[in-house]
Amino acid sequence: MSIDPAAELPFFYGSISRSDAEQHLKLAGMADGLFLLRQCLRSLGGYVLSLAWTVEFHHYSIEKQLNGTYCIVGGKPHCGPAELCEFYSKDADGLVCALRKPCLRSPDMPIQLGVFDSLRENMLREYVKQTWNLEGEAMEQAIISQAPQLEKLIATTAHERMPWYHGKIARQEGERRLYSGAQPDGKFLVRDRDDSGTFALSMIYGKTVYHYQILQEKSGKFSMPEGTKFDTIWQLVEYLKMKPDGLVTVLVEACLNGKAGAKIPSLPATRRANGYTPPPRVVAAASNSAAERDLLPMDCTGFNAYHNPNDLKKFDIKRSQLLMDEVELGSGNFGCVKKGVLKTEAGQIDVAIKVLKNENEKLVKEEMMREAEIMHQLNNPFIVRMLGLCNAESLMLVMEMASAGPLNKYLSSNKDTVTAETIVNLMHQVSMGMKYLEEKNFVHRDLAARNVLLVTQQFAKISDFGLSKALGADDNYYKARTAGKWPLKWYAPECINFHKFSSKSDVWSFGVTMWEAFSYGGKPYKKMKGPEVTRLIESGSRMDCPVACPERMYTLMKECWTYKHEERPDFKKVEESMRLYHYSISNKAKPEGATATAEPVK
Ligand code: ADP
Ligand code: MG
Repeated sequence: MSIDPAAELPFFYGSISRSDAEQHLKLAGMADGLFLLRQCLRSLGGYVLSLAWTVEFHHYSIEKQLNGTYCIVGGKPHCGPAELCEFYSKDADGLVCALRKPCLRSPDMPIQLGVFDSLRENMLREYVKQTWNLEGEAMEQAIISQAPQLEKLIATTAHERMPWYHGKIARQEGERRLYSGAQPDGKFLVRDRDDSGTFALSMIYGKTVYHYQILQEKSGKFSMPEGTKFDTIWQLVEYLKMKPDGLVTVLVEACLNGKAGAKIPSLPATRRANGYTPPPRVVAAASNSAAERDLLPMDCTGFNAYHNPNDLKKFDIKRSQLLMDEVELGSGNFGCVKKGVLKTEAGQIDVAIKVLKNENEKLVKEEMMREAEIMHQLNNPFIVRMLGLCNAESLMLVMEMASAGPLNKYLSSNKDTVTAETIVNLMHQVSMGMKYLEEKNFVHRDLAARNVLLVTQQFAKISDFGLSKALGADDNYYKARTAGKWPLKWYAPECINFHKFSSKSDVWSFGVTMWEAFSYGGKPYKKMKGPEVTRLIESGSRMDCPVACPERMYTLMKECWTYKHEERPDFKKVEESMRLYHYSISNKAKPEGATATAEPVK
């Protein structure tokens, strides 16, 4: 599930050592410019390029930068390992020579998984399940939408799962454990030094125990005094198994903590009344201070609105259960949307209430019933959930609240604080919600930035099912008999020309929504009128790339605007593209105020 951005490259070997890399290059003939790519054992998400030239080996580290790009120290940034290698195949740009010939992995040799690679999947699941109380589909969606952020979170605590990690024990107790049983050179353990959040490494050599303080610098990186720096404790330990880096000898054998992988990273005991569990502050490898990480969608109650689905998914909310605020969240032809609170057995929930203005109009009432009927069938974290209908002074549709409001407005008033990366994350979530709709055979027909609502800056939900249709089992499109008040600028050619609506026409709208998002709420096609836009599209033109939009996102946008719906990607494909890009650029955790003390503790 969590894909290494280099996994597709036939010259990527995974987590192999420098000497293994050299061995592969040797066996492949050592031609000048022969190269391979491997995982960097020091930095999360980094690589090493190993290159042969005049019968010598050259190794270049590729760092993953804070902004998500990759670069060889001193070189140009690239958006992924593939792009980087392609670049250096054309231009040596500081390397001893250009990359000429990939040293291919033989077909029967799998990519070598690193220590964390093989643990990651299980840890992710366990973590999401316990920390956020999620299960089933909601858990899968949480993992898919937030894998990079979660991986970083988990990587920094992965040492807690290792057999050599003994937690908070005193130095004397460390010695006692190392001296018990066999005492081979290089037997080692890692322990917490005290409550300062720093670590110590204790090891045996010549029947004597040596203690070393593991240093941590401000950026959060770990190292031995004057040694190589690592993002995590377990990477440091893996490295010290290969190189002493200042120790009396390399690490050889773990002094077992006796817990054999049963331990889960420490989780908080605190819990809110509604079943919400606040996230633990585990980025903490890098932050002993009160630094908070960005909230993830799963930190919002809205991620899993139903603690008891049977309790809430009914059409009969009683008026007495509803408190309605005067605050209007929005309005339309139908009436207005108001803020409110729904009282349930499980507690109070903030809600948005769509209130019909004109009760007498039978048509309007039927429309809202249809909207409710559609929403009732949908259950996905990235789609606004309907909680029920209430028939009182007027007909009211009760939905979970997305308090940060419509995406276009949010972006245009928060231009300075929202990064392109956040937009990628949000649009990936939208694509997940749309993929769900596509699987369930629903067409939305009004996907636009105004109908994507935000719960927080990192959590988007699709809303407004006023025009949506459920397709029959055998149909792949809905045919409108007459054209209505349609959002033409968001509509695909087949909608306008033949009144045919399908998930593929929603994909077109998704492209326009992406354009709006990367333009920070800009108006698509500026001041042009609907029919002018139609002419523009028919002539083969498309909107330009918004200034802040990454090239790959613009490429995807244009794919969404493929004229023929048969050739247009579906949401399965669109979501995959969004996901790969989202994963490839996701940030490392920001460096936070940790202290580095320089004295060894021998
Ligand atoms: P319309 O069909 O008129 O576009 P919408 O369902 O899009 O109706 O709702 C209109 C406005 O009400 C939205 O733009 C938004 O500002 C607000 N709104 C609707 N649903 C919610 C919600 N669940 N949470 C917060 N605000 C909402
Ligand atoms: Mg709307």
